[in-house]
Order: sequence, then structure tokens, then C-alpha cells
Amino acid sequence: MDSFVISNVKNIRGESISVRVSGGKITHIGDIVTHQNEEIDGKGKMIIPGLVDMQVHLRDFKQAYKETVKTGTQAASRGGFTSIACMPNTQPCLDNLETLNDLKEKVSEEGYCKVFPIAAMTKDIQGETLVDYKTYKDAGVLAITDDGRGVQKDEVMREVFEEAKKYSLGLMQHCEVEAISKGASLHEGKKSKELGLVGQSGLAESEMVKRDIDLLREIGGHYHVLHMSAKESVEHVRKAKKEGLNVTCEVTPHHLLLCDEDIPNEDTHFKMNPPLRSREDMLCLNEALLDGTIDMITTDHAPHTPEEKAQGLDDAPFGIIGLETAFPLIYTYYVKNEKMSFEKLIDLMCIKPVEIFKVANGQLRVGDDADLCLVDIEQSKVVDAKEFYSKCENTPFDGDDLYGWPVLTICNGKITYKDSNYDF
Ligand SMILES: [Zn+2]
Repeated sequence: MDSFVISNVKNIRGESISVRVSGGKITHIGDIVTHQNEEIDGKGKMIIPGLVDMQVHLRDFKQAYKETVKTGTQAASRGGFTSIACMPNTQPCLDNLETLNDLKEKVSEEGYCKVFPIAAMTKDIQGETLVDYKTYKDAGVLAITDDGRGVQKDEVMREVFEEAKKYSLGLMQHCEVEAISKGASLHEGKKSKELGLVGQSGLAESEMVKRDIDLLREIGGHYHVLHMSAKESVEHVRKAKKEGLNVTCEVTPHHLLLCDEDIPNEDTHFKMNPPLRSREDMLCLNEALLDGTIDMITTDHAPHTPEEKAQGLDDAPFGIIGLETAFPLIYTYYVKNEKMSFEKLIDLMCIKPVEIFKVANGQLRVGDDADLCLVDIEQSKVVDAKEFYSKCENTPFDGDDLYGWPVLTICNGKITYKDSNYDF
């Protein structure tokens, strides 16, 4: 089906519209006369731009048992995403042209959405030796990170800033001073005390945010704080933005909706890095989300197998998955609960990431790639991790009753996900 019309859908302002898709592009929005055989009847559904997620761990290669390009992008499509960024801490890692090309090839062969590779800041994410960033530019890389770790050495980070500026590469930092965090599995607070475990303070994150903002002020470029979690970090970013520095940041649904007090017993589905912090931190992130300090929502989708997650709080790997729950979570707890407008949600999950990182495509406009999604805001459904398209089930939101489920996702004019309970 190269040309079709999605009719009877409502846009986020509640207006009834029809959208024509032809040759992979949106060719018309508005009143369209259709012939029955070219019509997708979207009655009662909302139409939104395809979602964009700037932080996804696709695994694959030596970690294909956790996730592959195929299953990760299928999970993205089921979650309403049409563009995602692939973090470089794959094995082997994305610090060279060959692996970047291998990833590109996999995406073109088995991908269900657009994938934008983010390359490593330093060789093998060790924080020691820089990679030749010119190779990245030639491979179309837009930003770099050592995500999973932050660059510890000040002099190395200074060099990263200088080289990245030369090639206009965005810097995405996983902010963690390891001398402070000591790899602790929980936030230092109520829960760590209760369990008698060593915790990591929010300063582990914010001290790196502070150092990097000082470098940004001196050297310039674009600096982005990944999965911001601590109230001290929020303050540094807020001040830097007031100064007019080119700093941006993101937050995950789990850091917005959960805090350390919510961790049941020693449930490793609540273990991620940065950890769930205090209630005060969580409230501060919520305030920053609504006042515009936080630019976007990302999932930090990090698949781990049940066996890996069964190792107990100290030994289980950090990370949870998020692609298939992010939109319903934010829709339900913010838009439906009237804390946020639908426009703001689209800004956070579509428009801002596109503006900031120059990925595709974030809006519904004639002439753009047909990347879009229909969501059902009337029918609630309980999260069932067993139904995930992801290879893994490590989510703390299993069992939540949510609204706003994507029911049809289209990327480049092709259907990439269809909920079989709906008659499209
Ligand atoms: Zn990270």
C-alpha cells in the first residue's frame, strides 16, 4: 500500500482530520475524499507525530541475547516511536567506522524505525583516549557519549569538548563521578539505610554536570545531560540556561514517576543508573519538566534478561526497559491527570529532540516523511511485560493500568506496528 488515507482521526487540538500518505511522505492534511480501498479508518483515535527517543540501548552483536536491532526497533514501533538513537556501549562498541557501518546495515535490513547512531567519546568507553572524530562526521554521527560511564578525567573531557566543537558533534554525558558513586546500586537515602546498603548521593551526578558546564562556558559547543536525576543537577542546568549556554537535558519516565521509597523489598526491576533518588529529587524533576528546564523525555531502554536481573540488588546489572511503556505512562500521569497539555507532551517526545539533535522528524507536516502514530486515549490497558516485543521484561511498571496506547505506527509511510485488537 504505497498510497492511503488515514481518516477520521483527531489531532492533539481535538480537530477531526484526514491525512494522505503517498510515496513515504505526508502529501495532504485536511478534508480528503477517499475510495474505500485506500482508507484506514482511525475513528476515535488521536494522531500524533512518530515519537523520538534519544537514548536507547539496542544491544545486538555479542549481546543479541538481550536485544537485537530487530527486536529493539519492533519494541520502539509498538511504543509509537519512529526515530531512536542507539547508544554506543554495544559490544563491540561504536567507536569505529566498521561497527558503525555494521549497525547501519542491520538497521537497513531488519529495522522497524529510523536509528541514529551515537558514537563513543573515547576508545572503548574507557575515558582515556579520544577517537578520531572526523571518521564519525563522515559516517553521519550527530552526537557522542560514553554512556554507561561518564568521562572521569578533567583533562580528557577538556580534549573531548575541543575536538567535538571542531566537528560540531553534540556531547551527551552520563554524569557520574565514580569516586563519589562507588558504583552503589541505590541512592543514598531512606531505602539504602533501610536495607543497610551503601548508597550514592546526588552529588555523584551533579559534580560532573558542574564540571562540564564550566568547560562548556570556556570552550563552547553543545552539551546534553543524559537521564538527569538529582535536584543539584537541575539547579546547575537551570543556571547555565539563564546564562545562555547551549546546554540541554533529558529525564526518563521512571525518574519522574518513582523515587527510592517506592522500591519494593530488593526488587531489581527498580535498579538503574542513575538510581531512583529521593522524593524531593523526584518532585524537583517534575517542576523542571513543567518549567522548561528539562528539554525532553527519553527512555534509557536497557534490556537485561530475567537471569541477570535475578542476581540480587548488588549484583544485578543496572537498567530497565522503557520503549513500550513511555508514552502511555506520560500520557496517563501527566496529560490525562491534567498536569500537562498534549502539546507539551509532543514537544518533549517529538519536537525538542528533533530540534536539538537534528534527527527526523517530529511533526505532522505536508512534505515530511510519513512518521506517525495513532493512539487510543479512551481504552485503558494493563501493562503486561509478557506481551512486550522487546526480548526482555525488566520493567517496574508491570501491572500499571494506563491510557494512551499506540495502536498503529507508521514509519516512512509503512506500517511498522498494528495492534491486532483493532480493525484497521
Ligand atoms: Zn547512562
